[in-house]
Amino acid sequence: MKIQKLDNMAVEGNSSYPSEISIGLKTDRSIFIWNKAAENIFGYLAIEAVGQDISIIFSENNFPREKKMLENILEGDSFQYEICCKTKLGERICVLFNASPIMDKMGKVMGISKIATDVTDQNEMEKKIATLASIVDSSDDAIISKTLNGIITSWNRSATKMFGYTEDEAIGRHISLLIPPESVVEEELIMENIIKGEKIDHFETARIAKDGTEKFISLTVSPIKNRKGDVIGVSKIARDIADKDQQDEKQAILAAIVNSSDDAIISKTLQGIITSWNQAAFKMFGYTEEEAIGKHISLIIPKDRLDEETKIIESLSRGEKIDHFETIRIAKNGALRDISLTISPIRGRRGKIIGASKIARDISMRKEAEKQRQNYTKRLQELNKYKDEFMVMASHELKTPLTVIMANLQVLHEMMENDPHLILLEKVLKQVNKLSKLISNLLNVSKIEAGQLELNPTKFDLNELLAELIDNLQQTTKDHKIIYAKKQRKLMINADREKIEQVVINLISNAIKYSRETGRIIVNATQNTDVVRVNVKDEGIGIPKEDLENIFLRFFRVSGSASSYSGSGVGLYISSEIIKNHGGKLWAESEIGKGSVFNFSLPAAKEE
Ligand code: ADP
Repeated sequence: MKIQKLDNMAVEGNSSYPSEISIGLKTDRSIFIWNKAAENIFGYLAIEAVGQDISIIFSENNFPREKKMLENILEGDSFQYEICCKTKLGERICVLFNASPIMDKMGKVMGISKIATDVTDQNEMEKKIATLASIVDSSDDAIISKTLNGIITSWNRSATKMFGYTEDEAIGRHISLLIPPESVVEEELIMENIIKGEKIDHFETARIAKDGTEKFISLTVSPIKNRKGDVIGVSKIARDIADKDQQDEKQAILAAIVNSSDDAIISKTLQGIITSWNQAAFKMFGYTEEEAIGKHISLIIPKDRLDEETKIIESLSRGEKIDHFETIRIAKNGALRDISLTISPIRGRRGKIIGASKIARDISMRKEAEKQRQNYTKRLQELNKYKDEFMVMASHELKTPLTVIMANLQVLHEMMENDPHLILLEKVLKQVNKLSKLISNLLNVSKIEAGQLELNPTKFDLNELLAELIDNLQQTTKDHKIIYAKKQRKLMINADREKIEQVVINLISNAIKYSRETGRIIVNATQNTDVVRVNVKDEGIGIPKEDLENIFLRFFRVSGSASSYSGSGVGLYISSEIIKNHGGKLWAESEIGKGSVFNFSLPAAKEE
């Protein structure tokens, strides 16, 4: 604050610059300092001015404002303000006054010092002020400036509209005119920031208008600095957010939504104290609104889950939302409720987290359905297991008598060599053979399904096995030529010989079955370091590309012409499972009308 000592002042003023106006006023507003620059600018000589009321340099319109300013300065305030004055000749001239109280040694206000630090070209200044004034005046936002002590120094048209006070009523009054009692602290905090030179942006708050209504506004507060950069005042821009009616309506709608929700909606402070409790919360937990509000949220948390709340609060304090957290809460009557919780932080006007809102959805029905589904799946698995076991047992039991029948039929066959009824016996034998194959396939499938496919591995030469099998299979067909160039070397594998035999027979039988009347079947076997690979190539009907993988599925048969061949669709499924169980791979390549190649690879036996 600029304090000038009255007794050091000359009547002429002490301004060192001739262009700087220096005027001194006594407490009754009479002039006692009037320097050269003041003489030049205002046209009154010092002898004319001294002793006169300061009103001589103001028009009737401007003087009331000046009067208010001076009253505030006499209260001890000092500030800078622009004002238009009138010269002796009646010309309008605008100046920027730095006004401060003059105090005696005891600090008592003895007068006022007004220094106009700058007097710009009259027209320029006027134009500038007029432009600024029209901008300020036409703004839809209330624009107010005040001193650091809170005295209103400017007040635009929108401020009048928003708060109801005219410019004359507002200027010179303290800003607390607009501040609700509970927000006084808030204003002090704002001022602390402003004094530090900080700006406050879009701070949402409420102010009171002349008629007592509450106005919800968004405030932008900036410090006003002088040329030296000192903060000498404050500008406030207030934007109307919503009038109270609208706010009330919004609140009523929200309240109705909250109350009609099927989800329990609860809000609480960061300390866990319940601050709101809707109808559904009452239904879900049994406590009425009166019983719940003010209590700690642990009211509905089972003892063994109390630590959940600590974790929730931690997340909330970090500003995080908790989505669909499934947990259990306890109702007034002790019943446990399965719920899905969504918890969001509630922020205060300044963005600080002040609490949390909880939405709890009752998920007992869903949980119950889930439990039932689990039970059902479990039962289904059990049933499947019984079915698999039954199938293994049944096919096994079927096989035993059939083996006895076959053995006896074969003996009979030998005995009836020249019997005319031999043909009948041969028909029976053929069908029994088919039945036997079917049953052993059934046994194989059910064993695979039941996870009971047992392997009895021995070390043997696959080269040898292939040669032997192909010899036998060649006996079953005259129309097809099965070619196998037997290798000079052994192809040792460690595998279940009987099962590998089954795979080879299956692949070669398919090659015969799905070939035209005649054709070649070429079998080849190779070994690279640790893998033995066999392929069976035919010149048959081929397999459509889209079915190349399906043919290994249980009961899958290619549709169309292929289905006219008899079969059950399990041979390749069993073969592929056998190879997989040996740590190998079975796959096919094919071209429709040209033929197919079935390949399998197996790990080679380790050399000893
Ligand atoms: P099945 O021969 O008893 O039907 P598989 O599991 O052995 O059953 O074969 C499945 C299907 O794959 C057959 O129905 C057939 O359509 C096709 N298929 C198998 N091998 C060949 C092949 N060498 N040439 C053409 N199609 C084949």
